[in-house]
Amino acid sequence: MSTAPKTSIIPREVDALKACTQGATYEGVIMPEDLPRLAAAVVSIQREMTGKVRFFRDESNYRMVTAELHTVVSVQCQRCLSALDYQLRAEMDLAIVVSEGQLESLPKEFEGWLLDESGSADLYEAIEEELLLALPIVSYHDQADCSASGQYSTGDFEEPLAEKKNPFAVLGDLKLAGKADSTDKESE
Ligand SMILES: [Zn+2]
Repeated sequence: MSTAPKTSIIPREVDALKACTQGATYEGVIMPEDLPRLAAAVVSIQREMTGKVRFFRDESNYRMVTAELHTVVSVQCQRCLSALDYQLRAEMDLAIVVSEGQLESLPKEFEGWLLDESGSADLYEAIEEELLLALPIVSYHDQADCSASGQYSTGDFEEPLAEKKNPFAVLGDLKLAGKADSTDKESE
């Protein structure tokens, strides 16, 4: 009789040299509270991160670590400013090196992960880095789901852009801005 295995936690500290020699694989989760830099970059982390991390030596005997990472984060829609869920997926593919010399002699298509001589690795730091890089620069709801979509029809976008090409329109804008400034001062 077997029961479903409990979800395991991916370890933070890994002896990367040993892990590569053994061909170790870590499959499991990382809790949102263990990813503070990611938490600071989004509205919130919606669930634990799931991932599979594999250490191995490749056919040229380079020490490698690859990973597939997935979580769901809540990010701000830049159109309506409310939150939306984003499926955050990242992949890691790094060559583990333990000296500057090794780092420099890596083939240029490799991205190196420089550790100290002991090979002790903070896996969470590397994973968090990949997740941060995979974050979208800007996010929007789908047009149909966005509460601000009605205010931004394509026509509304095109008109102001066309006006900007006309230097007199720009002058008009400046005049308006000047008026607004003086009104502000009067009201103070
Ligand atoms: Zn929106």
